[in-house]
Amino acid sequence: MRYDYLIIGGGIVGLATCTALLREKPGARIALLEKEAGWAKHQTGRNSGVIHSGIYYRPGSLKAQMASEGSRSMVAFCREHGIAHEVCGKVIVATEESELAGLQRLNERGAANGLEVRILSIEEARETEPHLRGIRALHVASTGIVDYRQVCQRLAKIAQEGGAVLSLDACAVEIRGMSDRLEVVTTQGVFGTDYLINCGGLHSDRILRMTGQEPPVRIVPFRGEYYTLVPERRHLVRNLIYPVPDPAFPFLGIHFTRMITGEVHAGPNAVLSMKREGYTKMAFDPHDLAEVLTFAGFWRLGSKHWLAGAREMARSWSKSLFVKSLQRLIPEVEEEDLLPSEPGVRAQAIRPDGSLEEDFLIVEGRRSLHLLNAPSPAATASLEIGRYVARRAAVRTD
Ligand SMILES: Cc1cc2nc3c(=O)[nH]c(=O)nc-3n(C[C@H](O)[C@H](O)[C@H](O)COP(=O)(O)OP(=O)(O)OC[C@H]3O[C@@H](n4cnc5c(N)ncnc54)[C@H](O)[C@@H]3O)c2cc1C
Repeated sequence: MRYDYLIIGGGIVGLATCTALLREKPGARIALLEKEAGWAKHQTGRNSGVIHSGIYYRPGSLKAQMASEGSRSMVAFCREHGIAHEVCGKVIVATEESELAGLQRLNERGAANGLEVRILSIEEARETEPHLRGIRALHVASTGIVDYRQVCQRLAKIAQEGGAVLSLDACAVEIRGMSDRLEVVTTQGVFGTDYLINCGGLHSDRILRMTGQEPPVRIVPFRGEYYTLVPERRHLVRNLIYPVPDPAFPFLGIHFTRMITGEVHAGPNAVLSMKREGYTKMAFDPHDLAEVLTFAGFWRLGSKHWLAGAREMARSWSKSLFVKSLQRLIPEVEEEDLLPSEPGVRAQAIRPDGSLEEDFLIVEGRRSLHLLNAPSPAATASLEIGRYVARRAAVRTD
C-alpha cells in the first residue's frame, strides 16, 4: 500500500485536511489512519460545540484569521450539508469593575479582527439573557453552536466518496524513513507514503518524534470538566454566556453553553490530566505522567501559574466552588441544578521555557507536515486549517 499522502488522525482537523487535499490534488492517492473504532473520539467529540468568532486572538495570528474565516466556512458547510447549527451569538460579561478594561480590550480586538461586536449595558444584555448578573457585557454576533461529531461524519463520507482510503482501528506505532518514501507501521499493516501529515492531536508531538525530529514543544494534557443543567433549569441560559478571560491563560474560564441538542453545559475547567486521554479524575498512565513531570517547561509554567492551577484543582474536587464561579454569572444556579457531564482533554503545546504556545503551530519535515498545536478554536477553524495544510502539502510535493 503506497499513497501520495497519508494523514494520521481522524479528528476534525485530519478529516478536513483529507477533503481539502482531494480538492487540491484531484486523482491523488490519499489515506487516513485513525487508531479508534470511530471518528472524533477525542478532542473533537468532547468539546463545547461552539463555532467561535475569533474575538480572543491577536490580530494577524493564524488563530484570529482562521477562526473568523473558519466560522463562516463552518456555517456554510453546515448549511450546504443540512447539519444542525445555529448562529446564536454570545455575551461576555464583566462582573466587577476590575474586568471592564479587559472587556474593552476584547471589544477593540473584536473590531480589529473584523467582527460585529457591541458593548451592552447589563439591562440590554438581560433582554436576551434575563438571569444574568454583571455590570456590562460584550455581544459577539457571529458565535454559533454545532455538534462537531456530525461535521466529522459528513467529512468522512465526502472523503470516502472522493476516493480516499479511511482506516479505523489503525494506530501508527512506528515511522521509517526510506530513501524515496516514509513507511508508517500500524496495527493494520504498513502504509508507504510520499508525504505524511500528522493531525494526531494529543499525540502529535510523539508522532513527530517517530519521524526522528525532536518536537519544539511538548503536549501537556489539560482535562476540562463539565456539568449539565437539569432540564427544568435550562431556561436560565438562552445562548452562550462567558466571563472575561484571564489574559495570561488561554482557557476561557468556565462558561454556560447551550448545545445544539438543547442541553446546557457549564464548564469546562482546566486541570492537569495524568493521562493524555484521561477522562476521569483518577485516570493515570505512568508513561504519560512521567513525560509531563520530567519536562522542565511544565515546572516553569507551574511556577508562574501555581495559584491559578491550585484554584482549578480545588474547583475540580469541590462542586460548591464550581457552582460559586457559575453564580458570578447567574446567581440563581444551585448545586442541585447540575449533573456531571462528559469531560474532554485539551492538547496544549508548551515550550521548554514554560510558555504556552498561543497560536496554531505547524512544523514541516522533508516529507512530512505536523500540526503540533491545534487547541480551541481548531474545530471552528478546521476547514481553513485543512485548506492551508493541503496547499502546503501540495507545494512541497509538486
Ligand atoms: C474541553 C474542550 C472544549 C473545546 N471547545 C471547543 C469549542 O467549543 N470550539 C472549538 O472550535 N474548539 C473547541 N475545542 C478544541 C477542539 O476540540 C480541538 O481544537 C479540535 O477538536 C482538534 O482536532 P484534532 O483533529 O486536531 O484533534 P482530535 O480530535 O484529538 O483528533 C486527533 C485524532 O488523532 C488520533 N490519533 C492520535 N495518535 C494516533 C496514532 N498514533 N495513530 C492513529 N491515530 C492517532 C486520535 O485517536 C484522534 O482521533 C475544545 C477542546 C476541548 C478539549
